[in-house]
Amino acid sequence: MGTPPAAAENGNVHGAFIGNRVVMPANGETIPVIDPSNGAVFAHLAQCGQAEVDLAVSLGREALETGEWGRLPAFERGRLLMRLSQAITAHAAELAALESRDTGKPARQAQADITAAARYFEFYAGAADKLHGETIPYLNGFFVATEREPHGVVAHIIPWNYPAQMFGRNVAPSLAVGNAVVVKPAEDACLSVLRMAELAGEVGFPPGALAVLPGRGAVTGALLSGHGDIDYIAFTGSPAVGEMIQVAAARRAIGCTLELGGKSPHILFGDADMALAVPAIVNGIVNNAGQTCSAGSRVLVERAHFDRLVGELAASFSKLRAGTPEMDLDLGPVINGAQHARVERFCAQADRDGIALLAEGSIAAGVPADGLFVTPRLYGPVDPDNVLARDEVFGPVLCVMPFDDEADALRLANDSEFGLLAGVWTRDGARAMRLARRIKAGQIYINGFAAGGGIELPFGGVKRSGHGREKGLAAMHELSTIKTIIQRHG
Ligand code: NAP
Ligand code: MG
Repeated sequence: MGTPPAAAENGNVHGAFIGNRVVMPANGETIPVIDPSNGAVFAHLAQCGQAEVDLAVSLGREALETGEWGRLPAFERGRLLMRLSQAITAHAAELAALESRDTGKPARQAQADITAAARYFEFYAGAADKLHGETIPYLNGFFVATEREPHGVVAHIIPWNYPAQMFGRNVAPSLAVGNAVVVKPAEDACLSVLRMAELAGEVGFPPGALAVLPGRGAVTGALLSGHGDIDYIAFTGSPAVGEMIQVAAARRAIGCTLELGGKSPHILFGDADMALAVPAIVNGIVNNAGQTCSAGSRVLVERAHFDRLVGELAASFSKLRAGTPEMDLDLGPVINGAQHARVERFCAQADRDGIALLAEGSIAAGVPADGLFVTPRLYGPVDPDNVLARDEVFGPVLCVMPFDDEADALRLANDSEFGLLAGVWTRDGARAMRLARRIKAGQIYINGFAAGGGIELPFGGVKRSGHGREKGLAAMHELSTIKTIIQRHG
């Protein structure tokens, strides 16, 4: 920590974005940025400290209270969001290339992420002036109305798995409702976030509306979440850090949203349309090398059809290939050495526990030796109490286990400390609906599965997956508060 960049790389230090300009932190500390496809350092990030966190929060406060941002009517905020959406689209190729280099994502996956980021700003651009309050019948002689107000200065702490999408998912609804936004992106991947913040400044967002503070979680993230003048925290990441965020929010009695991942199940019945199910299930764990909070990472399979259904999954799994972004295969490398070690540790444990490896994909020939690639693996049958069935691997590792009947499937689906998503695969619509109603999770897909898909669709967890909803109009409710105005007239 704190190593100054080599002289040759000095020109390539990415600063913070505060008050619509690039700010180099006072402390001079930097963090190397690594390309996970080859392990090479290709840039450095400034590490923000107390001075930058204070500056971003105070400029956000000023923007709301005396600046232009707090005075803008909702439709003008919407127009700015639309301009940012268009700017992201206009810079899509540049942003996708940056995202691929920073995260290792295959080219098409990075392009899809940039398209989604632009779409977030488009969706909330249209929604900005459609957040209505209501009138409430009360005593004679009174008129009562509610209106939605921004929380104020909101801290958004986002992870490395989908930097561009997470930026859109957090920042677009937060700006739409009129918050001043301070983003702490992940140290492992935040270059697309910094670039989009610059674009926001270029399209005319007033200074202070948006700041991005790169830096380590334990430093910059802790300073921001513990800051005495923020009004709300939205966090996406690990359960362990989520707990710290909730404590930081509790200390000041402010609200928070926590999105902490999952162990999302598919329930696969013998009558499922396997032409639909196989690609969706496989993609749901392989996309982004399995580093997706909403990955479908357990497949519960009807016992009477187990061999046939699992055989079809295995056949598809064994064709999967990992490679560099340019190779544009099914998956890229994982984000960093710790994540690589984590995936391999789970697999080594599965081997020690005697769980059969049913299928394994491959790593394409010619990938750089220092790339952080892992093979996609399908294990099973897995005991429901095994760590592989219970913990989030956050890698391309899928496990299967049999169930006897609908009641057994429901019991196994809910036998998890997490509750983010679930997929139900059957041609029996009534059965699917019964299960959808009883599975404890924030989103239930029936005969489809799109991990992270659907900007319009409220998304978030129950149990240890967290609380609060992102995406859709629900995000605007979460990121705003209600004021009730009671006027006597009689
Ligand atoms: P993490 O530490 O929870 O990171 C999430 C965000 O929180 C990052 O911006 C991180 O910054 C920041 N952070 C870390 N410590 C903090 C602190 N003390 N105070 C405030 N902010 C802090 O997650 P990770 O270590 O990158 O990944 C570990 C595991 O978390 C993964 O294996 C996966 O299981 C889970 N995860 C889940 C999601 C999800 O979408 N739900 C996303 C990522 C990871 P730095 O990255 O700069 O430290
Ligand atoms: Mg990186």
